[in-house]
Amino acid sequence: MQTDDTLIKIEHVDFYYNKGKDIENHVLKDINLEIKKGEYASFLGTSGSGKSTLLYVVSGVDKPTTGKVFINNQDLMSFDQKQAAQFRQNGIGFVFQNFNLIPSLNVVDNVALPMTFMGVPHSQRKERALMLLKKLEIEHLAYRFPFELSGGQQQRVGIARALSNDPPIILADEPIGNLDTANATIVLDILKDINRNEGKTVVIVTHEPWSLRDVTKVFKIKDGAIVHIEEKKSSGATTHRPQDRSLSVEAQAKMLTEFLFSGHTHQEIMRAEEFIALRLAGKLTSPVLRDKLDASFKNFGVGLWKQKAVRISEQIELFLQEKKHIVSLLRHPLHTTDSETHYKLQKITQWLLEDIQGRVSDHIFEKVVSFVASRVSGDFSRDDFIAHLDENPSHGGAGLHIQSAIRISERLDILLGESFSVPVS
Ligand code: ADP
Ligand code: MG
Repeated sequence: MQTDDTLIKIEHVDFYYNKGKDIENHVLKDINLEIKKGEYASFLGTSGSGKSTLLYVVSGVDKPTTGKVFINNQDLMSFDQKQAAQFRQNGIGFVFQNFNLIPSLNVVDNVALPMTFMGVPHSQRKERALMLLKKLEIEHLAYRFPFELSGGQQQRVGIARALSNDPPIILADEPIGNLDTANATIVLDILKDINRNEGKTVVIVTHEPWSLRDVTKVFKIKDGAIVHIEEKKSSGATTHRPQDRSLSVEAQAKMLTEFLFSGHTHQEIMRAEEFIALRLAGKLTSPVLRDKLDASFKNFGVGLWKQKAVRISEQIELFLQEKKHIVSLLRHPLHTTDSETHYKLQKITQWLLEDIQGRVSDHIFEKVVSFVASRVSGDFSRDDFIAHLDENPSHGGAGLHIQSAIRISERLDILLGESFSVPVS
């Protein structure tokens, strides 16, 4: 029995593109969900998992092939054309990844546009649009055109537009997907404010676990099905996008040491960790680190065999180089077609595959490069990454032994930092 505060309810929804044709695509599979008034829900999943389609089903823009969608206990399918149009115009506000502003209209007119459709008089439209722009702290941009604005500013205009008819529901499809971290943070803060202080029910579609920082419920979607539902206490705790989660030098040194020194004694590991931390912090040069690793324990060294000391210090230098690549990749959005990005991904992949180098074909190597890209961009969880490395090449995987797959994933996690691991799985 559904309670009164249920705002959105989806029952046994299936959705097909091109049903009955040979290109038939079964995109949503027996979706059941409930979102309560005032919730901040999210659809989390990799690209192509069906998140956007589900959002459009909620909005009534896409009709489910089978199953029902209820808004406020009302079956969306029972709406006549006029009711359906009204619901889309003042029942929901849409925020898009690519902002979708009208290039030939200035900012204030873009924001006022949905009110035009509702027949709000001109002066009122403008007043409300300006009020919204003020609220989002972009009133000074009111008479600019979209092309004159940064992505973050455009998205704020997009949010103002979504709010213009004061809809109770805001649907946001990857709203920070095209924004840098600073702007993404602003947009998330605004969405949170809209939810907490304006009482709007917000649904955000994302593939970035980072953007779940304020949500109260997560629907994890995989291949068109909800595979996990998580209620989150709204902690208000601030989390950061992966690139901001740079591990402390100490934590990095610890992980790296454990990784490089498996099989060594506890004392050796502890001492190595200190030296490695100093190197990561730039307080030791590479040759000094090598000497320290080599020097006997009594002489305040780690007491490794010379060859091992050389090898480990080489590994650390490589780690520092790859870390730079990773940081620069995370700072700029990934374009795998961009040749510089591709080069960086190849370098990282070489480091990851060092153990099994020479045993993978160029074809498999490039596959791993593409999986690394997905992992770095957050499209793949750790489990996705391991599964793809392990999967048979005839099914699109790299066909690596599961032990190698896990080890490669551990290596990459060290580069990314352990806190990169996805909180919801
Ligand atoms: P997501 O938002 O999670 O990336 P989508 O809902 O956009 O996923 O897409 C889910 C699946 O439906 C994908 O396989 C995609 O190619 C397919 N799809 C999306 N839109 C259309 C469309 N208009 N026609 C046919 N197939 C589509
Ligand atoms: Mg999408």
